[in-house]
Amino acid sequence: MVIKLSYKTLLFFLCVMMVAALCFWAERQPRFSVTVNTAPKGTPVPIIMYHHIMEQEEDAGDYVITPQEFENDLVYLKSKGYTGVTGAQLIEYAENGTPLPEKPVFITFDDGYESTYRYAFPLLKKHGFPAAVSIVGKFADIYSGSIAKDISYSQMNWQQIKELSDSGIIEIGNHTYDMHEANGSRKGCRINEGESEEQYAAALADDIGRLQDKINVMTGKKPQIFAYPFGFFCRESVDTLKQMGIRLSLGCEEGTAYVSDSDSLINMKRYNRAHGKTSEAFFKKILK
Ligand SMILES: [Zn+2]
Repeated sequence: MVIKLSYKTLLFFLCVMMVAALCFWAERQPRFSVTVNTAPKGTPVPIIMYHHIMEQEEDAGDYVITPQEFENDLVYLKSKGYTGVTGAQLIEYAENGTPLPEKPVFITFDDGYESTYRYAFPLLKKHGFPAAVSIVGKFADIYSGSIAKDISYSQMNWQQIKELSDSGIIEIGNHTYDMHEANGSRKGCRINEGESEEQYAAALADDIGRLQDKINVMTGKKPQIFAYPFGFFCRESVDTLKQMGIRLSLGCEEGTAYVSDSDSLINMKRYNRAHGKTSEAFFKKILK
């Protein structure tokens, strides 16, 4: 029996075979495109996270370095051609494309220790680096009262915070008014299990808004920067922070931040600077 195929049917089968051949070929190709798609987009900006500074080596540790180590870091960064940038510059770059210097680095301090005021502030001025200092509102209130103070644990009072802000080189960031607990009723400012999104948004807005307003009253500037306590991030916090005026948030996940659009400014990666390494050894894997 002779099967007669019409011209149209023949063309159809030819097409099917071509598509099948193309699929087979595509399957066997190395997945170059996948590699390209997962490569980070944007400008790499190393963000360094500092906390506390103490003079004695024996007091130093993972979150405490010496003034000498901090100064060595600044001198080292400068010698390698790095320029300190502000959070405002990163926001301008992400939102409006305003160019950044060729080798940007962003210096950040969390918690608002008095040691930031006493040791870091003069060194930042001396070496021409700006920094973002994210404070806990409750601590600032407590240390503005008549409480025993010691540089080994004291936090900055509002007068010191205002002085930093007025200098023009320090941006004051929000580190929550009273959600700086790793093991309290919630982890930092993260949503609790079983908590509704509405309940959470109200609790977060209450706390963050309180400190936004207080910093605005005390310094005349409303923060645009937020640091997640202990790096406890959750998606549900993003919209509320935005509504409170936050445009850049800092996390604790280790890595280089890549700045492209405004979403790239959410929960930015940082490098914790611990005690015990030379600046060269610390920055070796960070500055490429
Ligand atoms: Zn903290």
